[in-house]
Amino acid sequence: MNDVILLRFGELMLKGRNRARFENQIVQQIKRVLKPLPNAVLRTESYGRMYVELNGERFEAAAKALEKVFGLLSFSPAIKTESALEPIREAALRAMSRLPVKPETFKVSVKRVDKQFPHDTFEMHRLVGGHVLQHVEGLKVDVHDPDVELRIEIRQNETFVYSESVPGPGGFPLGSNGKAMLMLSGGIDSPVAGWFAMKRGLRIEAVHFHSYPYTSERAKQKVIDLTRVLSDYAGSIMLHLVPFTDIQTRLKETCRENLLITLMRRAMFRITEQLAEKREALAIVTGESLGQVASQTLASMNVIGRAATLPVLRPLVMMDKIDIMTIAEKLETFPISILPYEDCCTLFVPKSPSTNPSLKVVERQEEWMEDWLPEAIRQAVDKTETMWIKPDDKSSEEDRLF
Ligand code: ATP
Ligand code: MG
Repeated sequence: MNDVILLRFGELMLKGRNRARFENQIVQQIKRVLKPLPNAVLRTESYGRMYVELNGERFEAAAKALEKVFGLLSFSPAIKTESALEPIREAALRAMSRLPVKPETFKVSVKRVDKQFPHDTFEMHRLVGGHVLQHVEGLKVDVHDPDVELRIEIRQNETFVYSESVPGPGGFPLGSNGKAMLMLSGGIDSPVAGWFAMKRGLRIEAVHFHSYPYTSERAKQKVIDLTRVLSDYAGSIMLHLVPFTDIQTRLKETCRENLLITLMRRAMFRITEQLAEKREALAIVTGESLGQVASQTLASMNVIGRAATLPVLRPLVMMDKIDIMTIAEKLETFPISILPYEDCCTLFVPKSPSTNPSLKVVERQEEWMEDWLPEAIRQAVDKTETMWIKPDDKSSEEDRLF
């Protein structure tokens, strides 16, 4: 008998031509999150089942790790045993005895994949159910609405016995839908947007605009820390730090004050797009949410978004702030996001930013800047600093210190 965790994936993953690729990607991620549990082993069976053999590792620890694997629909703590009556009965008893809450009623459901198995499904219900009833005091059978459904999956070489199913994070395996650039500020929204993008199968690279020396080293560290939290879902994330001070200062000197944010955002999109091209990413992800601030009215989004030719994905566009905050808390990005270090935009924010910018006016202003803006954008791309952020960076730095 062996304690295992049965893994279940979305339907899309199990069928069709993409299956091998998806499987490959998810196997990599599962192995990565299980690294801190050295005894746990991932098994992939030819008939499509994947499970983790715990070999003494705690289920709770493995479950916590698996929560970081996108594409995982649900999983079940299970007992693996040989496909023979007595071991199955024993496993059934053990599964019943370690339930967190003692049930009053139960039923047995048998899936007999191995048609050679000597007892048919009907017989197995009786043989296993009877055995459990005999050994667990006060337990009754209820086939319609049982407290516990004891599932038995009989295959040729092995049988799985389990009753619980824990929801996984869902979505698609990381990277199975390509790569996108995440515009990552130090705020609450964009890290959440990045999480949604990864959940949908996008590998992300983060792009952050800073206005050093107007913004401090600590503001930069905050973005590194946010990226690190997100990297827990990916293994590593590339962070691009774009120097934005020159562009911001010149825009401030040149443009109409109420259009400053609009023009800044358009410049950010253009820079992000050039980085995307270099890095072969096919979309831009932002934390914009409709109506949240002046730059996120529909009119603003329209004028700002037109600066990009790649698809701009806005996972939070229809979400309320309070719901975004709840997710940020769950992801543990919230406490980092609310640290009070200055953001490049808050420093340059005009008194009354336009909520209804005119595309024509904005384009005309940019035409007047033709002599310097495109070149400044290229320069910013050239001077972008790039680093890989990993979940364990901190600990390895500490290791080196001691
Ligand atoms: P957030 O909480 O993500 O900062 P926000 O509500 O503060 O969002 P804005 O400041 O208007 O909204 O920014 C909208 C989006 O533009 C952000 O979600 C982010 O994707 C992008 N963005 C803003 N500032 C920066 C920056 N300094 N670097 C990178 N991206 C940025
Ligand atoms: Mg912000």
